[in-house]
Amino acid sequence: MSAGNIGRFWEWGRKIIGVGRNYAEHAQELDNAIPAEPLLFLKPPSAYVREGSPVLLPHYSREVHHEVELGVVIGKRGAAIPRSAAMEHVAGYALCLDMTARDAQQRCKSQGLPWTLAKAFDTSCPVSDFIPKERVPEPGRLALWLEVNGQLRQSGCTSQMIFPVPHLVSYISDFITLEEGDLILTGTPKGVSAVRESDELRAGIEGIVTVTFKVDRKPRST
Ligand code: MG
Repeated sequence: MSAGNIGRFWEWGRKIIGVGRNYAEHAQELDNAIPAEPLLFLKPPSAYVREGSPVLLPHYSREVHHEVELGVVIGKRGAAIPRSAAMEHVAGYALCLDMTARDAQQRCKSQGLPWTLAKAFDTSCPVSDFIPKERVPEPGRLALWLEVNGQLRQSGCTSQMIFPVPHLVSYISDFITLEEGDLILTGTPKGVSAVRESDELRAGIEGIVTVTFKVDRKPRST
């Protein structure tokens, strides 16, 4: 596949790389240890959903959590990227929600299974419009927030990341070649909680972007 318009990366980007436990207070609220190196997982591009379409709760979960995150959009292919050159591979950002079926994740963790059902379901990656990096001179000083039905649930700053953006880009590229249009989900601050059918999620990067998504339940195949 050839690269398309970076401003619509969700239509043609080939992978979404998630980073878990990148904010200490979030790791602690789920009783997880602070990681010594980034914890990685994948979502497929079919997880993307855009404003105007609902976030759909999968039939097998009763505890889908919101996780508001800074998304990093890759603009230049690279492998084994040194930290000093990492930002040259970043085209921009997006506000993202890493929707997580926490009950499925707990089952996977207790059984030593991969997190696919917890993280990769359809509509598990709502994304804002693309934000060119020129509009974000300090990605390490962004205030992220999320409200459910008008109630503030998450409020954090990207300065609280354990592994900042250049570290993540470099680290991931040692294992997986980063390609134009790829998205990195950089982890969530504390305050995650379950969402329900007909909830309204509003989230933003202060002063830069706001998104709104309705929540619905996905009908089960018969
Ligand atoms: Mg997350």
